[in-house]
Amino acid sequence: MRRTKIVATLGPGSCSPDVIEAMIRAGVDVFRLNFSHGTHEEQRQRHALIRACSEKVGRVVGVLADLQGPKIRTGRFVDRRVQLIRGERFILDADLGDDEGTNERVGITYKDLPKDVRPGHLLLLDDGRVELEVVEVQGNQIHCVVGYSCELSDNKGINLKGGGLSAPALTDKDKQDIKAAAALGVDYVALSFARSAEDVHRCRDYVRKAGSDAGIVTKVERGDAIDNIDEIIVASDVIMVARGDLGVELGDAELPAIQKSCIKKARDLNKVVITATQMMESMIDNPIPTRAEVFDVANAVLDGTDAVMLSGETAVGRYPVKVVQAMSRICEHAEQQSAARLSDHRVHLMFGRVDEAIAMATMYTANHLDVAAIASLTESGATALWMSRISSGIPIYALTRHHKTQRKVALYRGVYPVNIENNRIGPINVTQSVIDVLLSRDIVSKGQRIIMTRGDLMGEKGAGTNAMKIVDIPA
Ligand code: PGA
Ligand code: MN
Repeated sequence: MRRTKIVATLGPGSCSPDVIEAMIRAGVDVFRLNFSHGTHEEQRQRHALIRACSEKVGRVVGVLADLQGPKIRTGRFVDRRVQLIRGERFILDADLGDDEGTNERVGITYKDLPKDVRPGHLLLLDDGRVELEVVEVQGNQIHCVVGYSCELSDNKGINLKGGGLSAPALTDKDKQDIKAAAALGVDYVALSFARSAEDVHRCRDYVRKAGSDAGIVTKVERGDAIDNIDEIIVASDVIMVARGDLGVELGDAELPAIQKSCIKKARDLNKVVITATQMMESMIDNPIPTRAEVFDVANAVLDGTDAVMLSGETAVGRYPVKVVQAMSRICEHAEQQSAARLSDHRVHLMFGRVDEAIAMATMYTANHLDVAAIASLTESGATALWMSRISSGIPIYALTRHHKTQRKVALYRGVYPVNIENNRIGPINVTQSVIDVLLSRDIVSKGQRIIMTRGDLMGEKGAGTNAMKIVDIPA
């Protein structure tokens, strides 16, 4: 059973009911709706398709709405693309119309960009494939010299090497998109290009005001975010190591160290982490991954990531189902290595809450006793989250009647949601009811041992887990 979760982006390559259903069967845990592309109506249709397919397959899947954020792009060209020649001048022109690009100049979506750059700055376009060195800023025109000969086409992203662009994280479009996402009832909202904890708080306020209790995923993709990483993690529910933009801003060689430290910090702070971008990139066109991609996914699992993400691979790729199968297989095998199971999570710290202490005690016991499964009766999923911060090979079942909680915990490593809506688990004989649920769903079998956690005031708001029980299921 795979513990690492798979996030897959929907797009034109994967938007039919058949494909989505097959992707769920192949193991997608959370679908990502990319609000950089498509209308609100298209997002609504995709969301409805996901819900319908999830219902049909009988598997809980979450939905993450990914906001575009202040992604800075070039405008378009009269002839769709131009050839840039090394050493020649090229102008980024904030005054030029969106469709008026030529081989001399092109428009930009962020009109304040000329204020943020100085001669000597390096602007990287199209994920770093195009390099422009700023030589002079004249009013709203940035005059550059082309670093190497290349093609430049419409709407390409622009990053400033080293970071430091002033564009605020939450744009007007993002605010509209949050309202649309809240209306759909998405489980997570992802904030792009956050710089600080302040950005995360503002996003959360906005999401709450829109009436959504979605978890906030902060995409770590700006140099500034790395400077403020601890406070950003604390402010977020989930972080995403967004290696695409981050690699352009900071340089590719910085990425492995950043990925490892972000994953460790997130887990240490009881937060969830997604590793994203280009994990299986070659499978956009090919039915099998490269060896390097196999190692990349496996290494993220060994680093301790909760989830690995697919972007173009499933949004526009030719093999949206095959790539999920391949990723799933690689994760499962990587998890078998003992390095993926060691943990000294918070052993030297004091716990602040009773439910956290119960979660920790449960995991240490489970890892040192012959236990088949952990069954956690939970309202918010918090106990299951704490448990899953400790590496283990033992499955953690989050038993809850709240569908929202089920979809949220679908992202946590090693946690599997179980719906108990129709099973009346009352305060009397909880243990037997839980055993019945687990047996009836073939989660455990007779003669096995489980650990159960629960609160005295089960089902009541704010009632925390305060008990752990070791149960031997009669043979
Ligand atoms: P994006 O974010 O795919 O929305 O750009 C991920 C990344 O930058 O890695
Ligand atoms: Mn990005």
